[in-house]
Amino acid sequence: MNQVNASHDLEEVLQTVAEGVADVVGFEVAAIRYLRSDGDLECVAVAGDETARAQLLGTRIPVAEIQAEFEMADEWGALRFVPHERLRGSVGAGWIPDVPTLDVPDAWHPEDALIAPLSSPTGELAGVLSVDLPHDGRRPGQFQREVLEMYSVQAGIAINNAWQRARLAEQVRLAEVLRTITQTAGRALDLGRVLDECVEPVVTGLGCHGIWIRAFEGEGERPGIGRGAIHPRDFPVEPSDELLALAKRVAHDCWADRRAVIFSDTKPAPSDLVSVDEQELLFRFVGHIHSRTVLFVPMGAGRECLGYIALTRTAEDAAWSDEEVDAALEIGRDLGRAVLHARLFERERQIVEELQDLDHYKTELISTVSHELRNPLTAIVGHVELLQMLDGPPETERSLAAIARGSARLELLVDDLLMLSKVSDPHRPLIPQPVDMVVVATEAVDMFCLQASRQNVEVRLVVGSRPVFAWGEPAELDRAVCNIVSNAVKYSPAGGQVTLTLEVLEGLVVVECRDQGMGISEADQVRLFTEFYRSSNADAIAMPGTGLGLTIVKRIVDRHRGTLTVESELGRGSTFRMMLPQPPK
Ligand code: ADP
Repeated sequence: MNQVNASHDLEEVLQTVAEGVADVVGFEVAAIRYLRSDGDLECVAVAGDETARAQLLGTRIPVAEIQAEFEMADEWGALRFVPHERLRGSVGAGWIPDVPTLDVPDAWHPEDALIAPLSSPTGELAGVLSVDLPHDGRRPGQFQREVLEMYSVQAGIAINNAWQRARLAEQVRLAEVLRTITQTAGRALDLGRVLDECVEPVVTGLGCHGIWIRAFEGEGERPGIGRGAIHPRDFPVEPSDELLALAKRVAHDCWADRRAVIFSDTKPAPSDLVSVDEQELLFRFVGHIHSRTVLFVPMGAGRECLGYIALTRTAEDAAWSDEEVDAALEIGRDLGRAVLHARLFERERQIVEELQDLDHYKTELISTVSHELRNPLTAIVGHVELLQMLDGPPETERSLAAIARGSARLELLVDDLLMLSKVSDPHRPLIPQPVDMVVVATEAVDMFCLQASRQNVEVRLVVGSRPVFAWGEPAELDRAVCNIVSNAVKYSPAGGQVTLTLEVLEGLVVVECRDQGMGISEADQVRLFTEFYRSSNADAIAMPGTGLGLTIVKRIVDRHRGTLTVESELGRGSTFRMMLPQPPK
């Protein structure tokens, strides 16, 4: 049932109706009660003398009491008449005047009760209109009853209109609260902030006196993710462990049924959820801020209950309306999703951290192993060179040549590994400077022209007349350009042509290396920049290589905040393009 927000207007209308009834139907007293959202019938209009008004106005009776009275009443059309001899205890208008009874068969007895139920359009009880003390001292006749029925219809309409208005206004208000909460919950990933930021709109939007939000700590989660927010901020006590455990249990039970529960210190504890002692525990806590009712809603997502929201009101505040309960449940679902996101985000962050640690460990390992390999390798190469200078038998010469080839490949690998660990180390920041890319490109072409001419491959360098400077580390950029030129030459057939072009396009230095070599299949292109990856093409595998060259190029370009692209077609050639930043102006 709805609380009537526009109660002021309504009470005026009902007062007019009550006075009309008293005047026209001829009763000393007429009283109207309407149904509050907590199930009580509250007396809001009384026509009659001051004593009657003082005794009746504002009093509440449970709806069940009136219903019990209807059961023993005579049906006078839409009216219900309970003769005094059938009455048990004080009900009806709740006021028993001290007046003499006439000595006639249809005399009105002070304890008689005549009540008109006021109905909503759907037939539910919305209130009651009761009368007492007929001017003529007799039970009302047919005409009076009909007039009374007419007035009761008017009162019913007035209550319904007020309800409709109130419901509409409330829906608008709650929709606004929900919009704010949804926005807040969806915006931030920091759970503590989400909960904090939701407190204000919920407190004002739902008209709460206090609020207590708690998100559970997930299993195995780092401490700190489980958060709470409370209003007022200077809440005088901390919830006890016992209360926390109770709230958690109730939240799980409520989430299982997707329901909210209202606790009131004047009502029995909902026995399926808490015991009398447990309800007392709750009210000892919220009693610190003089709260007398608690609307408790679970927070959750999917099958998981993730926390709860407890909204409190004082005795002076209105009772919770159905719409407010629905809105609070919706807020519980919104915040549940926010908790879930925050947890996933936290988990993701942890995984990223673990992966970064692992990657760092791998880089360190590669670096250590490469250094350890380098010294013995240098000794091997030196001694082989020494032995090759001495005249030995042909078998020894062949063995020495094989050792020299093997050592050269190992040197290449160790060299690449060292370079890879260097450019992959996040703790080794880039210290950029202007790098003359014409010099870098010329040296790269010079370095490979001998190998190219041995393979009958032509290498061309295309640069404009203007200098081209990139912003980076000279040694790294040198290595990146050398690697792609080296590949272009290595994977080109005799008669092929390699073109290295240098230009500035849209503020970026573009280094392009185009060849007419064996090309790379689309499937291979996907994994080209992965460590140790060598394409599946048999001709390519036959060439010496480590599978690290392009990984190094990619890491260098990334460190320089540049981009590396490849266009290639199997059997037709490849184009590698590096885009690098220019020095700041
Ligand atoms: P590698 O030491 O094997 O050359 P890279 O990382 O430099 O290692 O290259 C990875 C793979 O990419 C090579 O094994 C080769 O198959 C392919 N590749 C690289 N550049 C070219 C190119 N210009 N033409 C054809 N294939 C290439």
